[in-house]
Amino acid sequence: MRTGEQYINSLRGLKTVIFAFGEKLDNFVDHPLIRPHINSAALTYDMAHDPEFEDLCTVNSHLTEEKINRFTHIHHSTTDLVKKVKMLRAIAQRTGSCFQRCVGFDGINALYSTTYDIDQKYATNYHQRIKNYILHLQATDNMVAGAMTDPKGDRGLRPSEQEDPDLYVHIVEKNEQGIIIRGAKAHQTGIVNSHEMLIMPTVALTEEDKDYAVACVVPVDAPGVIHIFGRQTNDRRKFDQMDQGNACYGVVGGEALTVLNDVFVPWEKVFMCGEFDFAGTLVERFASYHRQNYGGCKGGVSDVIVGATAAIADMNGVARASHIRDKIVEMIHLTETLYCCSIACSSQGSPTLSGAYFVDPLLADVGKLNVTRFIYEICRLSHDITGGLLATLPSEKDLLHPEIGRYVDKYFKGSAKYTTGERYRIVRLLENMTGGTALVESMHGAGSPQAQRVMILRQGNLPHKVALARKLSGI
Ligand code: SF4
Repeated sequence: MRTGEQYINSLRGLKTVIFAFGEKLDNFVDHPLIRPHINSAALTYDMAHDPEFEDLCTVNSHLTEEKINRFTHIHHSTTDLVKKVKMLRAIAQRTGSCFQRCVGFDGINALYSTTYDIDQKYATNYHQRIKNYILHLQATDNMVAGAMTDPKGDRGLRPSEQEDPDLYVHIVEKNEQGIIIRGAKAHQTGIVNSHEMLIMPTVALTEEDKDYAVACVVPVDAPGVIHIFGRQTNDRRKFDQMDQGNACYGVVGGEALTVLNDVFVPWEKVFMCGEFDFAGTLVERFASYHRQNYGGCKGGVSDVIVGATAAIADMNGVARASHIRDKIVEMIHLTETLYCCSIACSSQGSPTLSGAYFVDPLLADVGKLNVTRFIYEICRLSHDITGGLLATLPSEKDLLHPEIGRYVDKYFKGSAKYTTGERYRIVRLLENMTGGTALVESMHGAGSPQAQRVMILRQGNLPHKVALARKLSGI
């Protein structure tokens, strides 16, 4: 298993092409826009070496029985699924932001069972290929990004109906050595600081969309791959190295648009090629695994928000007021409700035909739909308690200024127990974690709310509920 430092150094050997602010980055590893996300992912490596988290962050491989980082594991019990959630909460409590590595983790798990099912129907050998790939992943401890979301163009049209065929990733050529793919993947979490990316379709497909039914793995620095890094709220502050709130770990996952310009993939790295009837299964399994996560990672992030809000209440001198305590209780209640859903969908998991365990998809979707509401409510309560200075605090440069610093220090001071500088730190942390980019991530990460509603209706077994009512009413 790699350490965080080994992971960071391994990125230096890559030739990843990344553009940000209109420039090609020479040294992305030390770049102020990217480095916080690298630090966050590095913690997934370091915590695996910490005896306190050994039970959560490591596991024995079902393929080799060697001890591995859990992020490269295939779940083989409900205990595995529950430990995953607990691990994510523990890491998020320490980063206060996304650590990105779960997307690829969920991708390999979704592909493990789906390739088994494809092979049963079509006598293909995808399952052995994904097993070989997982062996490679466990041996190298590489970080693999899960690349699912296509740009989608006109959402009312299917992939094959789009005016521009590249708006969904598709196969443009097959030959004896492998396939060539073209298109792009949008909003890719952690992709610029991964080693490889797992390409998967983003929607259920029909026969006309056959060329879009492709799953494969590609190095992030393969010829033809270009990453265009996304902007975030207040990202220019990273260049100033001031007013960042969470300078070490940043905000959410550092997302990028990844362009795939006729990228070659050898056959041994291809896990779906034209089996359109399994695209929907793969998408649903991946989405369910990723929605399972949110009560874990967002639970951990919310723990930090609750703690920071309680701290600012004390700095403001109002911590003992009953309405403040009520609001803090509400924030904890919402956080633990999110966690309950993730634990529940994991505990109610079951084995697939491949032997890998799958979560209860209905409970996973309910949990993620709660995230789209509860995180906003947690942040609203935090804003309520913090006060208007969350939006009006001057720069730290003003606090340190030789002429006006003493005014900033004097008039932004709260309780005498704390310095103005300490109050600044907590307010900036809350600003970082409760506004802009961080909020939107809770809404659309792991799929937009409507995607969860569709799944909830499908899984909710409405006819059964109607039958219950009919029977009781004597119809
Ligand atoms: Fe993992 Fe949460 Fe980030 Fe998704 S949003 S990659 S589950 S930390």
